[in-house]
Amino acid sequence: MRRPAIIFDFGNVVAHFDYRKAASKLGDRLGISGEELLERLRPLGFSDLLKKYESGQISAEGFSKGVSEMIGLTISHDVFAAAWADIFTANESIAPLIDGLRREGYTLVLGSNTNDLHARQFRGQFAGTLAHFDRLVLSYEVGHIKPSAAFYLACTEAAGAEPADCVFIDDLAENIEGAKAAGLVGLLYQSTGRLIEDLAALGVVARL
Ligand SMILES: [Mg+2]
Repeated sequence: MRRPAIIFDFGNVVAHFDYRKAASKLGDRLGISGEELLERLRPLGFSDLLKKYESGQISAEGFSKGVSEMIGLTISHDVFAAAWADIFTANESIAPLIDGLRREGYTLVLGSNTNDLHARQFRGQFAGTLAHFDRLVLSYEVGHIKPSAAFYLACTEAAGAEPADCVFIDDLAENIEGAKAAGLVGLLYQSTGRLIEDLAALGVVARL
């Protein structure tokens, strides 16, 4: 492999997220817990609606309307959007690694299945860390979601590198399988310590 470009997933890699945080705010309005709200949504086609939203097929307004209708919630789009967006917390351990890779001159790309409301939130909340990235490839903008090959190829194009010269880091095994199927090198994120070791095995060493 040449000096590779490094592509990071966002959720549960660059930062943690928890849908229960949004769900509990919405559940409060129905007198149920966030867990119960998520349980109600699951059999009603929530994940299909989310996929449509994150691949750019429906708008934020269409998504909030769809979710509200599923669970019988009467809520304005702005109130829904504020609750929906606030799910992220920092992954404190990874910021120094990203900073160190940047200082070594690696091309860094973010490759995230996400939507406009979450992206607006995390671009503000994690502006310092995200400033180290050359490009952000966001599913709702490119119109493809992981694990489809087209998503990974949008990332390699953004990196300006061949797939074989790109390392894709993600916390979900199916997204790593997708990356490998598209010809990239995949690393499953389990912890930052493990990731540093896995990168070193590929000859990628950050200045920490
Ligand atoms: Mg993730």
